[in-house]
Amino acid sequence: MSATREIELHCWVCGERFEREEPRAYAVTGRGSDLCPKPVGFNPLPMLLHTCPTCGFTADGRGFHPSQVDEQVRDWVLSGGLTRVSDEMPDTGYSRYEMAALCHARRAAPSALQLAEYYLAASWLAQLDEAPEVVPDYQQEAAQYLEQALLVGEVEDKERAVMTYLVGELRRRLGEFEAALKLFDEAAIEFAEHGGPKWMVRALNQQARMAKERSAEDAPLAR
Ligand SMILES: [Zn+2]
Repeated sequence: MSATREIELHCWVCGERFEREEPRAYAVTGRGSDLCPKPVGFNPLPMLLHTCPTCGFTADGRGFHPSQVDEQVRDWVLSGGLTRVSDEMPDTGYSRYEMAALCHARRAAPSALQLAEYYLAASWLAQLDEAPEVVPDYQQEAAQYLEQALLVGEVEDKERAVMTYLVGELRRRLGEFEAALKLFDEAAIEFAEHGGPKWMVRALNQQARMAKERSAEDAPLAR
């Protein structure tokens, strides 16, 4: 069985139909403390996003669904707003996640959680592609949108502990140690209230220790 499969996409911005490959299955050997997956063999992240070859509209598979049609995005892309920004960007996996975020942000009612997911994946890919200079900007965007998603109740109860931990970890990596420690405390409260994965307690201890030592270094996820 091949690792990828062909899918057909219909761009609701310009009407183009095109085929793309999507990963069928993939393996990871572990995760970083910011949940960055460490892929085995090929890295599936760039293939989870699709760019229309005609107009440049970029989104994950869900974003191409007919239910996602949005006139503001269509007008912005077709009037050249996207190409004005994307022409300045390097042709990399992380830039494509930024393009997807820019398209999503133009929606009449954008989802903070979706924006956080796009920027988080951009920060992961920039680490995997060894582009450390752009990582902090993406982490900053991801942290802000995740905080917003938590605030407006976009995150399901069972995910609140992990997402609060993740914002704390992004803040720690950005060198904002006091904010990180406060968020790790909040994550422990969310964990007590709503539960979460087993690794959380060890991860919270390890990352809080690093924040107290004022270390912004990368670390593997404690398990
Ligand atoms: Zn298109």
